Amino acid sequence: MAIYDPKSMKAEEFINDEEIRETLAYAEANKNNAALIDEILDKARPRKNGSGCTCSGLTHREASVLLACEIPEKIQRMYEIAEEIKLAFYGNRIVLFAPLYLSNYCVNGCLYCPYHLKNKHIARRKLTQDEVRAEVIALQDMGHKRLAIEAGEDPVNNPIEYILECIDTIYSVHHKNGDIRRVNVNIAATTVENFRKLKDAGIGTYILFQETYHKQSHLKLHPTGPKHDYDYHTEAMDRAMEGGIDDVGLGVLFGLELYKYEFAGLIMHAEHLEAVHGVGPHTISVPRVKRADDIDPDMFDNGIDDDTFTKIAACIRLAVPYTGMIVSTRESEAVRRRLLQVGISQVSGASRTSVGGYTEEERPHDTEQFDVSDQRTLDEVVRWLMETGHIPSFCTACYRAGRTGDRFMSLCKSGQILNCCHPNALMTLAEYLVDYAKPETQQLGWEMIHRELSRIPRDSVRRVAEENIAAIKSSNRRDFRF
Ligand code: SAM
Repeated sequence: MAIYDPKSMKAEEFINDEEIRETLAYAEANKNNAALIDEILDKARPRKNGSGCTCSGLTHREASVLLACEIPEKIQRMYEIAEEIKLAFYGNRIVLFAPLYLSNYCVNGCLYCPYHLKNKHIARRKLTQDEVRAEVIALQDMGHKRLAIEAGEDPVNNPIEYILECIDTIYSVHHKNGDIRRVNVNIAATTVENFRKLKDAGIGTYILFQETYHKQSHLKLHPTGPKHDYDYHTEAMDRAMEGGIDDVGLGVLFGLELYKYEFAGLIMHAEHLEAVHGVGPHTISVPRVKRADDIDPDMFDNGIDDDTFTKIAACIRLAVPYTGMIVSTRESEAVRRRLLQVGISQVSGASRTSVGGYTEEERPHDTEQFDVSDQRTLDEVVRWLMETGHIPSFCTACYRAGRTGDRFMSLCKSGQILNCCHPNALMTLAEYLVDYAKPETQQLGWEMIHRELSRIPRDSVRRVAEENIAAIKSSNRRDFRF
């Protein structure tokens, strides 16, 4: 029998099935234990610490008790604390990005994904470098600065050399004032050597969704192909870190397995990264299974409703306070609005989940990975964020200034966000307003910028931000490192 050990490098020991089962039993036994729940909620609260703030986070056992809790007032309190944590460490900024699908060739047999090898009616397509350039121009013309590249797993059609060439192409395109300043990568688990190549190519975060932490389900859901290997998939983040990538992004595809099991596994994975590498995940994504070509989400028994989904997001926020949280356009505007209140810090906008989708007039369905619920334009998303009190941010400064891994986490913990991320967000918003925004968005944006500039505590920082914004307005740009 495998033992539970967060420091172990073996998947079955750091995601230990027996420990998860005991955690779920403990959570079930304590779900109405109001005194214990209050104690856990109190532990999760952010606390002032000099000029900054600290938060202890929660263990997977504590967080699982909150997730199991059914007492309405306590759930409400969880939501309030989740928002407090978000505001303490990330402020009211929301970072924007878009996925870029490079290729849907795939040799895996994932039962929930339309790219699976046996799907013969989806059109297979892989972008040429000219097509990558055209997609990037279309994304730059919307105002995007940060991409997540996506590809199926296929060593022949999408070898690492192809991915690296695409990254080079993406960074080389500078259309009008456009620029992609951070490329995050969501490709299948790979070797340390390949992770080193990705690091050398200048990627931001390496993102890999675990899909499910339940080993037996994983084997059934991935019946064929390299992804069948649960251990290789689960240990990928350790190889990425060994290859020098210190920002990694976790995620579970909710709907495949019991959500309480997945949640405990996800928090244990974060604990493992912290225990072994000294830094937890940079981001956690919360995708839910969606309808897609050849895929009916009702085939899976574990779909979760919007209330449960919101509770999961809030509990993640409480458990890992310094980790960015991402919600994609898989979710509707209404769901995204709710999640923004419980800790989400990044959203995608105007996404096309098809290969070559950004250069098509109409939203193409023939190579789409899944149905997109939020189909608004980037400008509409930017305006909506401002209307709901958030600062849309296109900032990539941390990564460009080398503040990754634990250096980013210490910035987050030191409470310097208002002197650093906040002005950067305002400067990148100013760029967006001048270069891409519709008049109505511009008006709201400038009002927001003027209001928010006054919140920068340090005078010298505020002056620099004001000067830079004036330079952006006069089209006399410098390299502001954002
Ligand atoms: N091929 C890469 C891998 O194996 O991890 C990742 C790229 S894939 C384009 C990105 C993610 O889309 C997958 O990890 C999966 O979680 C998600 N996905 C697949 N099918 C989906 C569906 N029907 N609905 C929602 N998300 C889906």
